[in-house]
Amino acid sequence: MRIAVYPGSFDPITNGHLDIIKRGAKLFDKLYIALSENVSKQSLFTLEERMDLTREATADLKNVEVVVASHQLTVDFATAIQASVILRGLRAATDFEYEFTMAMTNSKLNAEIETVFLTADNEHMYLSSSMIKEIAKFSGDVTNFVPPCVATAIGAKFDD
Ligand code: ADP
Repeated sequence: MRIAVYPGSFDPITNGHLDIIKRGAKLFDKLYIALSENVSKQSLFTLEERMDLTREATADLKNVEVVVASHQLTVDFATAIQASVILRGLRAATDFEYEFTMAMTNSKLNAEIETVFLTADNEHMYLSSSMIKEIAKFSGDVTNFVPPCVATAIGAKFDD
């Protein structure tokens, strides 16, 4: 059984993440989406809100499970759930250095776990959670970029 983990902050989940998840779900028998706090980023949604939104957006994918993996190394979490692969998405060259460093570090921490990258498709190359938050903050329309549950939730956040 091939088990993979897709870690990230998913603040919030976008159509770009969803594309990676759908493609990853075809490559692996089981795909865990592991939500964590990104210490260098201030999050808009709480961990619980991000979990609910990610679950709703992936509800139709039978071999995908959303879990919280805060306060631990991704490689340790992967070991605990018997995952042999860490899945990540690559957009433009700007992602490369950070993702490369992370993958190298994880392989030093645990050589048994491989990082596998899927390249973003054309349609989602430019999409990021930060950009979505920026658009929503100024009452822009994000419906083409995120699942419907996120569009509703982010609208409500900035209505407060
Ligand atoms: P992190 O805070 O760990 O970077 P993110 O939630 O921002 O977590 O992203 C998780 C993963 O998804 C990262 O590998 C990131 O490069 C990838 N990703 C983010 N947006 C997209 C997108 N539009 N297309 C493909 N991959 C993406």
